[in-house]
Amino acid sequence: MKQLVKIKSIRHATHDVLQIVTEKPGQMEFHSGQATEIFINKPGWENEGRPFTFTCLPGDDHLEFMIKTYPVRRGVTNELLSLKAGDKLILNDVFGAIAYKGEGTFIAGGAGITPFISIFRNLKAQNKTGNNRLIFANKTKADIILQQEFHEMLGKNFINILSSEKTKEYAYGQITKDFIEKSGASLGAWFYLCGPPPMMDAIEKQLIDLQVPGNMIVKEKF
Ligand SMILES: Cc1cc2nc3c(=O)[nH]c(=O)nc-3n(C[C@H](O)[C@H](O)[C@H](O)COP(=O)(O)OP(=O)(O)OC[C@H]3O[C@@H](n4cnc5c(N)ncnc54)[C@H](O)[C@@H]3O)c2cc1C
Repeated sequence: MKQLVKIKSIRHATHDVLQIVTEKPGQMEFHSGQATEIFINKPGWENEGRPFTFTCLPGDDHLEFMIKTYPVRRGVTNELLSLKAGDKLILNDVFGAIAYKGEGTFIAGGAGITPFISIFRNLKAQNKTGNNRLIFANKTKADIILQQEFHEMLGKNFINILSSEKTKEYAYGQITKDFIEKSGASLGAWFYLCGPPPMMDAIEKQLIDLQVPGNMIVKEKF
């Protein structure tokens, strides 16, 4: 069922990611990791729905989304850049394959971090981040979404890898089997994957080569 919500605030979380906070319709229920389809309530855009993930906690009195924008595509994410507080979005039904099943390793590429934001915030709120670890792949340091918050939530279990920038503090290159093993990931625990399809396919293959059973891999392609 489609519902109209007002934007409470909209700001840049990184150079190309918007943090959008909206009103929450009373009857909207979701679990951490789930998404909805968002439309912009503006002439010409009301039928252009795109999937985005809730990054707030299910119990919050507002909704939050972290949205990577692609101005060159001239699509919905570019149009979001022109919105301001008070403008309205249309939200559709809740869906999504990612849910927390138990301790393990989360592997995200770019905006693929979004389902894990709500999951980690939820674990943190319950003091249950435990031995979960997050491997976060980005092009450059400036692309890391919620870098400070993840450092605070996960400490040494927040592992970054950058493909286009060499830094002193983070690994450089692509995620490999060797990198996954050296990150301290427990191969017998859960794996959660979210990111662009080519990255997901490559990592899933590496996990299978590492003898991780397919039914221990929770995933969503972005
Ligand atoms: C379940 C799910 C949840 C998601 N949650 C989030 C989230 O929380 N945050 C987030 O940032 N993203 C999320 N995504 C990804 C997000 O939905 C897309 O980034 C978004 O739909 C892009 O919309 P757009 O209209 O800007 O561009 P698109 O609809 O992708 O593109 C518009 C046009 O640009 C062209 N185009 C398409 N791809 C390319 C390309 N690679 N290069 C050049 N031109 C291209 C095509 O002609 C296309 O018609 C999620 C995806 C899924 C499946």
